[in-house]
Amino acid sequence: MSPTIPLFNRVALIGIGLIGSSLARAIRKHGLASHIAISTRSLKTLNTAESLSLGDSYSQDAAQAVQDADLVIVCTPMGAYEAVAKAMAPNLKAGVIVSDVGSVKASAINDILPHLPDGVHLVPGHPIAGTEHSGPQAGYADLFPGHWCILTPQDDTNVEATGKVKALWLAVGANVEIMSPQHHDRVLAITSHLPHLIAYTIVDTAAQLEDDTQAEVIKFSAAGFRDFTRIAASDPVMWRDVFLSNKGAVLDILGRFREDLDRMTQAIEQGDGDLLQDTFTRTRAIRRTVIDLKQHIPDVKPTKPD
Ligand code: NAP
Repeated sequence: MSPTIPLFNRVALIGIGLIGSSLARAIRKHGLASHIAISTRSLKTLNTAESLSLGDSYSQDAAQAVQDADLVIVCTPMGAYEAVAKAMAPNLKAGVIVSDVGSVKASAINDILPHLPDGVHLVPGHPIAGTEHSGPQAGYADLFPGHWCILTPQDDTNVEATGKVKALWLAVGANVEIMSPQHHDRVLAITSHLPHLIAYTIVDTAAQLEDDTQAEVIKFSAAGFRDFTRIAASDPVMWRDVFLSNKGAVLDILGRFREDLDRMTQAIEQGDGDLLQDTFTRTRAIRRTVIDLKQHIPDVKPTKPD
């Protein structure tokens, strides 16, 4: 249900790809802002956003978009955060809330916070929702319902500012959890970053096989490979930035994974069927828990426009 009074007067979205445009649509759908200001790097994307009527004003200049905003949400790949923070900082008004949607939280804070003037509240966020598609056409208003959005305010962050960002995410249908940025980055390293790295690697391994085998990998992809290809089709720039931003946690979990992979390799070499079966039985139980928590349905863009 839409609130009668918008939560925010002017919301500025910096970056209008899959996540930024989904937020723009959801903010509009639920009447959460009186004015949506959109900024993106290229004129081409800006024109597409305008042709889709995603906002009320459009600018390639982030500083212009954040003028008078009471909420700014950075929705660019993480490698652009520092430059975006520097560009918009001079025009942020006192009391404005700055948030983001980036997939790594400690680096988001490191890249943005030092550039914010006093009196600006940083409430970092990460919606755990998305698809392998990019750009403003790829977004849709109902991307967030049923998904978690994790907020990682710092101990001294203004409580009211955190409450307002939480209210926004609840209003677009997400569930909200608050945790430390370091904890977020450790959890996401295993639930999201490592699976993407495995998918990118396995699809690349298949791509380097001899031509005849490669053709059959595609032909018989329904045997398991297909699901990896969907994940490995995710945006290359976004994922480059995720791995570079979450280096420590990813390397840590990758070390653990290599040990487990070595154990499985050894079990196959030594014909240790018990170890294989025990492992697969444990993992099957985890799948059941995922289904019970309704986290098993992949995000697929609806065929009808919202
Ligand atoms: P996207 O569809 O590729 O859109 C990226 C947007 O950022 C575009 O408007 C693009 O502008 C702009 N941009 C790209 N590079 C830039 C730069 N160097 N400087 C300024 N603007 C730049 O990306 P997305 O999938 O929405 O991801 C955006 C953020 O959401 C990322 O930080 C990602 O970690 C996070 N996230 C993504 C997902 C997902 O599944 N995709 C899920 C959760 C969180 P132009 O097109 O004008 O160049």
